[in-house]
Amino acid sequence: MIAGVIYFCMASIALLSSRFEGGLAFIWAANALLMAELQTSKTSYWPRVILACGVASMISTALFGMGPLAALPMALINIAESLIVATLCRRFIPVHLADGSKRSLLVFIAALCVPANIIAGLGAALVAATLTRVDFGASWLQWYSGHVLGGLTCTPILAMLLQGQVSRWVKETPKKKKLEALGLLAIFALVTAHVFFLARYPMLFLLLLPLVAISFRVGSLGAAASVMVLAVIGGAATVAGYGPLNMVSGSIGERTQLFQVFLAFSFLLSMPLAAELNGRRRLFQMLQASEARYRAIAEHSGDVVLNVSVDGIIEYASPSAAEQIGCAPGSLIGRPAEILVDPEDRAEVIRAHRRALAQPGDVQTVEFRPSITADGLDWCEMVTRAMLDEQGLPIGVVSTVRDMSRHKARQRALQRVAAVDTLTGADSRWAFLEKLEQEIQRVARGAQACLLLIDIDHFKSVNDRFGHGVGDKVLSGFVERLRPGLRGGDSIGRLGGEEFAILLTGTDIQRASMVCERLRKMVSAQRISAQASDTITVTFSAGLVELDGKSGRAELLEAADKALYRAKHSGRNCLRLAA
Ligand code: GH3
Ligand code: MG
Ligand code: MG
Repeated sequence: MIAGVIYFCMASIALLSSRFEGGLAFIWAANALLMAELQTSKTSYWPRVILACGVASMISTALFGMGPLAALPMALINIAESLIVATLCRRFIPVHLADGSKRSLLVFIAALCVPANIIAGLGAALVAATLTRVDFGASWLQWYSGHVLGGLTCTPILAMLLQGQVSRWVKETPKKKKLEALGLLAIFALVTAHVFFLARYPMLFLLLLPLVAISFRVGSLGAAASVMVLAVIGGAATVAGYGPLNMVSGSIGERTQLFQVFLAFSFLLSMPLAAELNGRRRLFQMLQASEARYRAIAEHSGDVVLNVSVDGIIEYASPSAAEQIGCAPGSLIGRPAEILVDPEDRAEVIRAHRRALAQPGDVQTVEFRPSITADGLDWCEMVTRAMLDEQGLPIGVVSTVRDMSRHKARQRALQRVAAVDTLTGADSRWAFLEKLEQEIQRVARGAQACLLLIDIDHFKSVNDRFGHGVGDKVLSGFVERLRPGLRGGDSIGRLGGEEFAILLTGTDIQRASMVCERLRKMVSAQRISAQASDTITVTFSAGLVELDGKSGRAELLEAADKALYRAKHSGRNCLRLAA
């Protein structure tokens, strides 16, 4: 209802005061209200607003415009214009019009000036040319200038009003700022009144200075308010025959159009300027918030945060540096970051720094040993990411350095546990295979070594006769018995079940065969006590292969396994050499 009444008043005033040629009105701000309503309300609210303004448009056209015949078509055309603008704004602006961004302003201007009023203008000109003396071309121009200019000048401020921005500004702005804004607006109003009512010369340029000043100091709201002030004072003066535009020869309609062009340029000067400044202000606020957050993280984190320049100089070190790496932050600034790294790991850390700079957006992680090994600190992890300037070029990196010593120690302990077979104390399968791999490399460089694969004979029957527990005891006793027959550099590993492997280093196949025979005799001669008075003797079969520096792990194991298989088939308790 309220929207309808206001629309009716705005439309009627425009029709009564600006139908200079008896056709369409030269000034039209009523649709600005409808556009602002549509842009700031939910789409479910649209039918009600459209109905109210449509009825208002029909009544005012019937009473004060081109008459009852034109009422319905003109209402439909007015609605079409506003709907096109509101729909396009909703489609291309993520937030509402009055968010004060450049993008929203651009979308609004483009939607209003191009599709909405070109299309609506054609419809309106057709109605005017049919019902009045004014021809089609002139009518289209009257519509276009009146509606574009009315829309430009009034929609933003009305949208701001409807969104509560004006009341929010009144509530949230400090008193001093409010006084400044009102003062500037008053000066602008006085200058406008002077230019339009008193000045003897055409001095429109006088308005530029206060207009720009308001846009700078007050922002979008100030700019929109000034354009409104200019529209009301200047419009009234021009229509009443006063002001610089009346110094131009031409019809009142032409002079009004000229004034509207001036108004549009004032809008296009002040609003984008305010929008740009608004954007920067918001960016600055975001920057401040992000800076505060970053500081809080840097200063209270257990990690050391470093800002390092492109050429590797420390520009900032967080207070935690003193506690974590034993260096006062102040003493680090201006020094090369590499001094924190053990010389052996410097190249790796420098490579990570270069990678971070070359691939901005990617995070580089590198582990290194620190140069200062205070308080058990012996491993660090550094996570690095580039910082970019406004053109997207790297200006340095942010690195967080974390003490990894405990983690590494735990990792080493776990590795130690995983490297040993818990039942027998022999190397675990993977630890033995690692050693075999290293030995293969050494043999490739000229060393000698042999791989002996052994499997206990008829072990299942030990389990069957004496139980699994005794079987376990036999397994651990078996390894204990083998050890004295091996040398310091040799390794024994449990590959699985009751199958073991021995790596005999610095040994050729003849010597390895002799070692194996000795082990076989040692094992078979021993009696292991099982239950009460029962004792067990075990024997094993073995396959032997010499490392040649060329064959890989799998090939060697396969060759030894085949030899072992032959040993089993030859009656067990014997050694066979790989073919
Ligand atoms: P062969 O002379 O042909 O090697 O005869 P075998 O009985 O030793 O045969 P095989 O190698 O197939 O069987 C191995 C047995 O070892 C089977 C399994 O019950 C037993 N075994 C494997 N792992 C363990 C273990 O950790 N503890 C005990 N007690 N027994 C195991
Ligand atoms: Mg066996
Ligand atoms: Mg077996």
